Amino acid sequence: MNESLKSILIVGAGPAGMACAHTLAKAGCTATVFEKEQVPGGLCRTLNFDGYLFDIGGHRFLTKSDEINQLWQDVLEGDLLRVKRLSRIYFRRRFFNYPLSFANTFANLGLVESFKCIASYFWCKWKRPGDDQTFEGWITNHFGKRLYDIFFKTYTEKVWAVACRDLSADWATQRIRGLSLKVAIKNAFGKKQNAPKTLAEEFYYPRTGPGEFYQRLEKLITNHGTEFSYGQTVVGIRCEGKRAVSLITEERKEGKRKEHKADHIFSTMPLPLLVRLLSPRPPAAVLEAADRLQFRSFIVINVILNREFIFPDQWLYIQDEDVKMGRIQNYKNWSPGMVADAKKTSLGLEYFCTQGDEFWNMNNPDMINFAMEELEKIGIAKRRDLINGFVLRCANVYPVYSLQYEKHITVIRRYLENFENLQTLGREGLFRYDNSDHALLTGIYAARNFLGEGPFDVWNVNTEKQYLEG
Ligand SMILES: Cc1cc2nc3c(=O)[nH]c(=O)nc-3n(C[C@H](O)[C@H](O)[C@H](O)COP(=O)(O)OP(=O)(O)OC[C@H]3O[C@@H](n4cnc5c(N)ncnc54)[C@H](O)[C@@H]3O)c2cc1C
Repeated sequence: MNESLKSILIVGAGPAGMACAHTLAKAGCTATVFEKEQVPGGLCRTLNFDGYLFDIGGHRFLTKSDEINQLWQDVLEGDLLRVKRLSRIYFRRRFFNYPLSFANTFANLGLVESFKCIASYFWCKWKRPGDDQTFEGWITNHFGKRLYDIFFKTYTEKVWAVACRDLSADWATQRIRGLSLKVAIKNAFGKKQNAPKTLAEEFYYPRTGPGEFYQRLEKLITNHGTEFSYGQTVVGIRCEGKRAVSLITEERKEGKRKEHKADHIFSTMPLPLLVRLLSPRPPAAVLEAADRLQFRSFIVINVILNREFIFPDQWLYIQDEDVKMGRIQNYKNWSPGMVADAKKTSLGLEYFCTQGDEFWNMNNPDMINFAMEELEKIGIAKRRDLINGFVLRCANVYPVYSLQYEKHITVIRRYLENFENLQTLGREGLFRYDNSDHALLTGIYAARNFLGEGPFDVWNVNTEKQYLEG
């Protein structure tokens, strides 16, 4: 059958779904993309509020893939800023370089605390008291217990709400591999070591935020005949034997349901959700594995403040234990094009939570008040600086790397491999703590497999465990 006559359905217009649609379209193969939101880009979309532009958390364009770099350049026609990274840890009203640097850290901590940290580092190097399989153990062995307690424990537990001893070391090795106190000391006194990925000192950023890339990509895709159906949530996938035969969508506004015949489905929805939407239901062991895979959710409280300058960083990590806030983005430091008035500042105040918990259910005005109180408490801004603000809740964005997570993924993966025409891809679809370049690559690879240009293993993207935080 001619590929363009087939009913090819893509779930999600985030980076993975868009790259998949684009690769198919370039090969003359049209598809329909179902997206529950109203715009493309997924977590990389840009929101406009009172003329100020906000990311969902600040998205750097940074990749080791020449192909993705070329795609960004081609689609944005070079309309990318080169941004010098500045992001620090804010703790006890002091700014600590991140990644940690020897002189700055110890100048900020003072003589006595610094001595304790160094003693703890050497003791842990000698005794290696941590279990390298866990986040707590890995960091303790690499940085010492005292630095772990000061700089890693609080932020990590804010993000994951899991004790660091129950968190797989995979997150540490993906996020801060190549860093250690030894490297920090060497960098302070000698020739700089090869920078690990978290140290990337520059990145690209579209002048008006990452959403610009996905809007332009959408135009290129629709020029080839692919359709985007927005405001449509996929609520079911009907299967017969080894094939997925149709997909059911529900209109978000009116709740109207529709069934769409499918010859092939690419899904970027969260992996556990995909499993639960299959009909007939998968075996109990597969459903149980899906239940065991948990995500953390994310709320960003975006505010416009009547202040011209607050801090020079693109973002700050908030380390203090007595506030719930995890990070602050300062969008005018990403690009001047993000603010409508250069005399004002727009911040994204980031909170990590679990969908449906007390914080998630707080009403929006209370949440904005809460965040402004925290900003005042840590000395970043005053409540009276607030001009306007809004809240965005994002469910299922951080796959939790619990100790057994890989085992559960394998159970699901083996089951999905039985289907001839159903492919899962993307960050949530593969349950992988990936950046957008990886998600784009999974979309490209999945499409190429379909076009017979493979085989490419989407599960094998970003497995080198060297990572860019996001
Ligand atoms: C706070 C934060 C900061 C980040 N910073 C960076 C960064 O600096 N640089 C970087 O490269 N990456 C960063 N990332 C990662 C990046 O956002 C993701 O890697 C990327 O968005 C994943 O793309 P995706 O298409 O797999 O998933 P998503 O972007 O999540 O897209 C999935 C899409 O599917 C839709 N969808 C889901 N379920 C359904 C359904 N049932 N029916 C219809 N539609 C559905 C969703 O609405 C969404 O649009 C960051 C992520 C977060 C959370």
